[in-house]
Amino acid sequence: MSADTLRPRIAALADQCVMCGLCLPHCPTYVLDGDETESPRGRIALARALAGGDLEPSASNRLPLDHCLGCLTCERVCPSGVHYGELLTATRALLGPRPRRARSLLGVLKRPRRLRALARLGAALGAPHWGPRLARLLPPDSAWGAVLGALPPLPKAPPPSHPAAAPRGRVALFPGCVADVYETEAHAALERLLAAAGFEPVRLPALCCGALDRHGGEAAASARDADDVRAAWAAAGANTLLTATPGCLGTLREALPGVAIEDAMAFVEREGGALRFRALPLRAALHLPCTEVNVARADGAVRRLLARVPGLELLPLPAQPACCGAAGSHVLDFPRRARDLRAIKLDQVQALAPQRLLSGNIGCRLHLAAGLSERGSALAVEHPLSLLARQLESP
Ligand code: SF4
Ligand code: SF4
Repeated sequence: MSADTLRPRIAALADQCVMCGLCLPHCPTYVLDGDETESPRGRIALARALAGGDLEPSASNRLPLDHCLGCLTCERVCPSGVHYGELLTATRALLGPRPRRARSLLGVLKRPRRLRALARLGAALGAPHWGPRLARLLPPDSAWGAVLGALPPLPKAPPPSHPAAAPRGRVALFPGCVADVYETEAHAALERLLAAAGFEPVRLPALCCGALDRHGGEAAASARDADDVRAAWAAAGANTLLTATPGCLGTLREALPGVAIEDAMAFVEREGGALRFRALPLRAALHLPCTEVNVARADGAVRRLLARVPGLELLPLPAQPACCGAAGSHVLDFPRRARDLRAIKLDQVQALAPQRLLSGNIGCRLHLAAGLSERGSALAVEHPLSLLARQLESP
């Protein structure tokens, strides 16, 4: 979209806001900073001024918009129905790439083959031991430091699941980029649950949905990713697309309008009514990623699905802050702020004294696990799908 199209659209979206301020206490960055400029209302006013040409788009002027987590909690609670997500995306596209993005690092993270090869090389050189120590020596705002401290050893490839004899339908899984490398267990778990529920699961090729570039205002790169997604979907021959990473959901829906795209756990909860789970006496804290709540709107389905495991006690975390700080590329762009938000979340987790932490988004899961490791905690963090598949009763 050209600047001439974006400017009036941003102005129209900003005009939806009646400046009531009801969203402010729900915004994680407002909770963190206590500053109007770091709130939804402040950002809407800033977007209006930048789009209208009343303010120069300098690095410091645009910073509050760059700081936005895109968690969309403000959109969910706004009584005036402001389309904040669209406003943020349009404004970032107008402003262009955020200054000083870690492009070389992002170029690795969004290409699973490169990431896997680098992780293998790192493992051969002992990176799981020295990586976190090196991360602590790097400046607190280093994107490389954030990655070195967060990426765990490569998980082992799980065994394949047995397909259903007479499938009810063909369901495609979008494996993503970082998730394709580090969420292999959850993806295999999903395929097992789908097969047990009578579906034939197929996987799209591993590629980035475009969210990592879109967060940083790289609209052209994000559009190229969307083209790749469309080509992969066209070849899949499925009628539903699922993702076990709710952070990809919004970008996938924009790339594939009219396609049934769903959060994997919401789909299993609805279509897997016949699935039975073995008992598991366990106290598990449930972290609901902001995209699971505000984009997938699957928080209720996740709770209902996990409640079907007898003996599993779910310990809900406080709603605020609504984001753990990972937020797509935010953890790379602003590692210090991401750590500050994570510290609040981890204090809440540890106050519950759980035996496990469940989180259904790869970025959140790795970010939270790295924080726990820094604190010397051995608490395991896993995707809810992994737990569910392990407890599945054999048909
Ligand atoms: S975004 Fe919605 S809730 Fe927030 S100030 Fe504007 S109108 Fe009020
Ligand atoms: S998307 Fe999240 S971080 Fe951004 S303004 Fe809204 S509530 Fe705040």
